[in-house]
Amino acid sequence: MPSDLTDLRAAFEHQISMFGDLVYPDAAPASATETQPEPTKEENPLTTDQAPIEPPPNEAAAPSETAAPPEAAAPPETAGDVYENIAALIPTDSPMVSMKSLDEVSAYVAATELIELDKTRLNPVFGVGNPKADLMVIGEAPGADEDKQGEPFVGRAGKLLTQILEAIGFPRTEVYIANILKSRPPNNREPLKEEIAAHIPILHKQIALIQPKLILCVGRTSGTSLLGIQSSLKDMRGTFHDYHGIPVMVTYHPAALLRNPNWKRPTWEDVQVLRSRYDELTA
Ligand code: URA
Repeated sequence: MPSDLTDLRAAFEHQISMFGDLVYPDAAPASATETQPEPTKEENPLTTDQAPIEPPPNEAAAPSETAAPPEAAAPPETAGDVYENIAALIPTDSPMVSMKSLDEVSAYVAATELIELDKTRLNPVFGVGNPKADLMVIGEAPGADEDKQGEPFVGRAGKLLTQILEAIGFPRTEVYIANILKSRPPNNREPLKEEIAAHIPILHKQIALIQPKLILCVGRTSGTSLLGIQSSLKDMRGTFHDYHGIPVMVTYHPAALLRNPNWKRPTWEDVQVLRSRYDELTA
């Protein structure tokens, strides 16, 4: 990775300019629901969510004699607990609970119909990359190209994702790429709540086995589904969220960048912050 951020920025801008100024109405293999305009830097500085929150004066006062004693702080999660706690999200009656490898889980996913989409898919799209990756990238759902090839992010949006990762020094093969849904929704519609609920344990198992130090969610659906929150992309991006002890950055889906080049800049800011945190965590 070039050390100079100016070089990186130039590399990124050069790479995404091949796609970013063009509008591909059919480029979104998934719903890519980043519909709100990007706020100005003044409205939404990257550091907004990181500022310490001062308690209001009345809450900052010394506790009265009748106040309940403060609860003992929970001990910090150890690295082992983090992935065990994620594995514990898998329903106890799922065969995945006892599985020990990604290959085993992938074979189970290929052989199992959990939702209607699993019957209509051409191929399951399980995930690809380094099974011991420190960075996992999570998208929404396969599109037509991914459905045909059985691999995530291989269409136009996928090529842009690969370029964005390379611009911050990650060859595609070094990270692990997966989606919330493993089967293609018809006409690239947004995944339904029940579909997400049925497939997300597969992602939990993938995270528990891969044990990434950091996660990048691309797109609103990816962020809200993983984090279990309702929020807009605008509100989620630009800061880290905590997922059972794993820092999660949520940024624009590459398909959204193909439609709206104005979102390239905030995406570039987000991925630079992601890279810095990755370097800290893996130093
Ligand atoms: N969009 C996604 O969210 N995932 C893919 O695999 C491809 C496009």
